[in-house]
Amino acid sequence: MIVFRKPLEGIERPQMPADVVIVGGGPAGMACALRLSQLIDAHNSEHPDSQLSKENIYVLEKAREIGQHCLSGALLDPRAISELLPDFKKDAPLDAEVTKEAVYFLTKASRFKLPITPPFLRDHGNYVISLNKFVKWMGSKVEETGITIFTGFAGSELLFDGDRVTGVRTDDKGIDKEGHQKSNFEPGYDLQAKVVILAEGPRGSLTKQLIEKFDLAKDRNPQTYGVGIKELWEVPSGRIAPGEVIYTMGWPLTTHEYGGAWIYGSKENIVSLGFVTGLDYEDPRLDPQRVLQQFKTHPFVTKLLEGGKMIRYGAKSMPYGGWWSIPPVAGNGWMIIGDSAGFLNSARLKGIHLGIKSGMLAAETAFEALKKDDASAASLSNFQSRINSSWIKEELWKYRNIHQGFEKGMFAGMFHTGLQMISGGRGLSDRYAAHAGYQRMRKLSQVPADGGPEAPLLGPAKGDGKLTFDKLTDLYHSGTKHEEDQPAHLIIHDTNVCNERCVKEYGSPCQNFCPANVYEMVDDPGQPNGKRISLNPSNCVHCKTCDIQDPYQISTWVPPEGGGGPNYDGM
Ligand SMILES: Cc1cc2nc3c(=O)[nH]c(=O)nc-3n(C[C@H](O)[C@H](O)[C@H](O)COP(=O)(O)OP(=O)(O)OC[C@H]3O[C@@H](n4cnc5c(N)ncnc54)[C@H](O)[C@@H]3O)c2cc1C
Ligand code: SF4
Repeated sequence: MIVFRKPLEGIERPQMPADVVIVGGGPAGMACALRLSQLIDAHNSEHPDSQLSKENIYVLEKAREIGQHCLSGALLDPRAISELLPDFKKDAPLDAEVTKEAVYFLTKASRFKLPITPPFLRDHGNYVISLNKFVKWMGSKVEETGITIFTGFAGSELLFDGDRVTGVRTDDKGIDKEGHQKSNFEPGYDLQAKVVILAEGPRGSLTKQLIEKFDLAKDRNPQTYGVGIKELWEVPSGRIAPGEVIYTMGWPLTTHEYGGAWIYGSKENIVSLGFVTGLDYEDPRLDPQRVLQQFKTHPFVTKLLEGGKMIRYGAKSMPYGGWWSIPPVAGNGWMIIGDSAGFLNSARLKGIHLGIKSGMLAAETAFEALKKDDASAASLSNFQSRINSSWIKEELWKYRNIHQGFEKGMFAGMFHTGLQMISGGRGLSDRYAAHAGYQRMRKLSQVPADGGPEAPLLGPAKGDGKLTFDKLTDLYHSGTKHEEDQPAHLIIHDTNVCNERCVKEYGSPCQNFCPANVYEMVDDPGQPNGKRISLNPSNCVHCKTCDIQDPYQISTWVPPEGGGGPNYDGM
């Protein structure tokens, strides 16, 4: 029997008072901490008699080191960082300024360059970065301010008093696979905070808890997601210039799936390439890691990578839903920022600048709350007003219907995108409806047995070991490591559904959509279908795809013991 992770009950936990706890040290969380520090410094120099302290402001980050769990493309739109740190170019790790961009439509053997790059994919003035390095740099700035970043500590649950969020419980450490305390057991802390700011990235686990508890998704479009599978390559010189940006649409996806690829030239002959597959595909056998492998067999991509070496691998989800999917972002004692709220422009494949800006606006709201000693819903709702009157809304409003327009396939999507571009994002109606992506998944009985046009995207990639790779080879390059002796952090609320229904109805799609081989159906003659779900949690790269894409919605990702996870060096 699999034992699943949950905070231990009936134990004494250390209590720690806090003014502000920021859960998640990605670009949004780090920007929030930095802005808060700037405001406190300015206040303290103007008001020597009423000093505010930074001592009780904490950032919790589940990775062992800052930035280790951060993965992105990445192109940085510098708009927000130049507001936060006007001198950022002096020492930020910027790999190259974008000098050239192109968008191609691919068929199996050819490519067609779009004569005009759509405005949302024009990247002159942006920078190629490694988000992992960029966040490390932001983290070092936060540490210089005196704000404490607790690395290796995950927020494992929110603390409530009625309708008020009163703090965060951190992960229990030193629990064995059976759920018993080991000799190194350390209970999680209860951080009793005036303000909790959730900056957990896409599909945050505490954010999910909050959204469910207060029914925050009501009246919103369901959030939809894509999963990006990324590889870093070292290629022979001269293949792609630093700062050269290529986007592709079309093959290997068919017109039924949503997604596309990016190829960014960085310095030192490093190429970032990846494929984002919309988590709203129909065939349960589709495997996003295989989609990337297939993409690399296109002659155009093969030529670029030939003679090169894959050096890193990773995967992460991203929220696609846009403006209409964003829940209320503030309430009694809490705010939500960055990808956790859904501040991502899917048309531009960009969210770093929106994450940073939302973090800054949340910091301004938290600063006011600290000054007034009032973190009530009324006080923190100023965050929503700040978002509404900022360039975040201005940017996202123009693309508010973009992903929904593709719900009926690529051609309909292009038609709607065209209409939306000439009508300020409106298209055929002000708010297009959306459906949760997992609801589009069909049962095995409803898809062609031979896979039809999707056949090359289905099932595990074999890989030739040079250009293409099977999942385990790829996974090795993610540097993922967890304490092995701990309960499973992938919670399946009813494993009978996996063994008795899913295996028959959907063919266990978790084996396909998980980019890290965490889920396996193993032989078990004792089960009605001869198979039983088995987990390899220590492979997990924290992409959250299983939490999003499980057709029965019985999977919940919770943070493992703090410190475990991928090691995204340079991603
Ligand atoms: C494949 C891909 C390509 C992308 N390309 C681009 C691009 O080119 N340009 C661009 O602007 N954007 C891009 N994005 C989007 C961009 O990466 C995100 O919008 C941005 O990283 C969001 O920042 P964040 O701080 O909200 O979340 P994240 O970057 O996800 O950071 C969240 C942090 O919180 C930590 N955390 C999560 N839960 C907990 C917890 N419970 N306790 C403690 N710590 C926790 C995580 O470990 C992580 O460090 C891309 C995204 C993907 C997936
Ligand atoms: S188990 Fe879930 S979160 Fe972990 S790598 Fe697989 S799909 Fe992603």
